[in-house]
Amino acid sequence: MVESAKYKTSKFVLYFFRFILSLSTNCYCVMIDISRLVRENIRNLKPYSCARYEFEGVASVFLDANENPMNVPYNRYPDPLQKELKAKIAKIKNVRPSQIMLGVGSDEPIDLIIRIFCEPEEDNIVAMDPTYNMYNVCADINCVEYRKVLLNDDYSLDAKRILEAVDGKTKVIFLCSPNNPTANLMDRNEVMKILNGFEGIIVMDEAYIDFSSQPSWLKMLDEHSGLIVLQTFSKAWGLASVRCGMAFASEHITGYLNNVKYPYNINMLTQKFVSEQLDYEGRKEKWVKMLLEQREILAGKLAAIPLIEKIYPSEANFLLVKVPDANDVYNKLISRSIVVRNRNNISMCLGCLRITVGTAEENETLVNELKQL
Ligand SMILES: *Cc1c(COP(=O)(O)O)cnc(C)c1O
Repeated sequence: MVESAKYKTSKFVLYFFRFILSLSTNCYCVMIDISRLVRENIRNLKPYSCARYEFEGVASVFLDANENPMNVPYNRYPDPLQKELKAKIAKIKNVRPSQIMLGVGSDEPIDLIIRIFCEPEEDNIVAMDPTYNMYNVCADINCVEYRKVLLNDDYSLDAKRILEAVDGKTKVIFLCSPNNPTANLMDRNEVMKILNGFEGIIVMDEAYIDFSSQPSWLKMLDEHSGLIVLQTFSKAWGLASVRCGMAFASEHITGYLNNVKYPYNINMLTQKFVSEQLDYEGRKEKWVKMLLEQREILAGKLAAIPLIEKIYPSEANFLLVKVPDANDVYNKLISRSIVVRNRNNISMCLGCLRITVGTAEENETLVNELKQL
């Protein structure tokens, strides 16, 4: 009772200031106090410090880290803040290097965000449903309540219902656009309502943004201090086995992410390799173009197969399709050595299979097998 009264008062104060701000600047900036949202132990954390980086460029003899001094390529600990790699990413993404945190896939920042902001058995997370399952798994691992809010029947986002699920203990909202497994984009106005209506952390997972016709939410970082945008090298960049993901956020948030992550989470092989790969942005774009063409060709061919009841619109490198019996089709495809993703048991996805767009040959193989079922 006391909590919720306090929450309502603070919400009123926030709206009041936002109103004044919008009058004076005509800009709907949402600047929230991040430290207030952070768990107390994390706020007070004295992070592990790698002393070497305070003396970068000053010292030339490094006897501080008990490394093997032999001059082989990987005898030194890697840069814990990956400065060279971030400088390159910052240019491509048009953000400040300090707004980037790099993780072992985007799965690492997903887990870190929950650990930084959500007190186990006390705070909660609100997320759209269906969506990427890792948010739920990480919440469960961390003993944090995970509140699912169903999408509309057409898989669109209902900001009002998301905000209704929020209470004084909600620290994080997870959104995903284009969404996995529904393949669609979340409407900009609905997302804006959530950005403007929630004084906490809003995660926008953009794993499939390279395939989308809409721009990234990265542009909004400076206007919404609680926004975290996740992107990854695992999909369009073709580097899933490298395990490198990006979290973009205000310096306040990246500071906490960097303090809580393992100091040397991104090894030097990965830092160098991803840095090299960034020079081939043109190749990535060529792949994206090819996959988008293939997606349309595949959708066209699937549409002609009577077994396929529905193909959902896609802004990603996969198609969600509906069949009469997803388990049956899935198993029959397996027996023909084709693996797709069975989403039959996911909410709102009864009868659905998620099909990654492959090469022209692979897609053709799939289509031929489906025709014979
Ligand atoms: C594939 C995917 C990711 C990528 O995770 P990584 O750990 O970076 O490989 C993140 N979010 C969504 C929604 C995905 O589908």
